[in-house]
Amino acid sequence: MTPICRFFTLVSLWLMVGASLTRAEIPVIMIDPGHGGKSQAGTLEMRSNSSPNNATTPGGIKEKDLTLEFSLFLKEVILSESGRIGFPIGVLLTRESDVNVDFIQRAALCNRPDTACVVSIHFNAGGGKNALGSLALISAESRNPQFALDREFGGGLAAACSEGVRNFLPDSKSRGVITDGHLHGGLGSNFFFQLARQPRLKGVPKCFLEVEFIDNPAVEKALLKVDREAKFRTVALPIAAYLLDYVGKRKTGPQD
Ligand SMILES: [Zn+2]
Repeated sequence: MTPICRFFTLVSLWLMVGASLTRAEIPVIMIDPGHGGKSQAGTLEMRSNSSPNNATTPGGIKEKDLTLEFSLFLKEVILSESGRIGFPIGVLLTRESDVNVDFIQRAALCNRPDTACVVSIHFNAGGGKNALGSLALISAESRNPQFALDREFGGGLAAACSEGVRNFLPDSKSRGVITDGHLHGGLGSNFFFQLARQPRLKGVPKCFLEVEFIDNPAVEKALLKVDREAKFRTVALPIAAYLLDYVGKRKTGPQD
């Protein structure tokens, strides 16, 4: 090959690589409404088991219904607020009806080249009768190469959620970030296990967001009994703002 040919080959290679790197990709926020349906999906042996429901309010409202309702509002609010960033954004849910989806399938749905972050929505219980507060759950440091990234992402998300919840429960607060080290005898969350196996999700921030403790009667009364739709939209607003700003910063800022 003559030097001039080599030059043009290099230029065309550079153009091809450049084109693929600067392709205008629309980042997608993946929202996973926890639980669903009437029976377990997946198996413990495969570490794919998603329970149909965990928490229930004193009045009988199920977590699985609240996760779906809240996720649908969050999607709507993110899309309606997306003008605050200078590029289009997508929002996808791992389920949009009352069905359970096992963790292998949920993780596969999240495994997209354009996924910007993964947020699994849950409502908490078992913190004691008067427990209050929003928190994020992330994969423990011992098995999580992106622990610092997830901790920063989850901490901001819990703070944003708590800001929204305080409109209705002024004593609520952010409980920050906890890890999944205590789950499944130290093995951690099976959803995180399946997400970690997905090649396109390396370096993509992931966490569970536990919106509030719904077995606390005060939470049920203030947040869930009356005008739930309007209240959920209010809670979703700072979360949507945080997610949009976070994704915006990562898309336009220096990449790690
Ligand atoms: Zn849950």
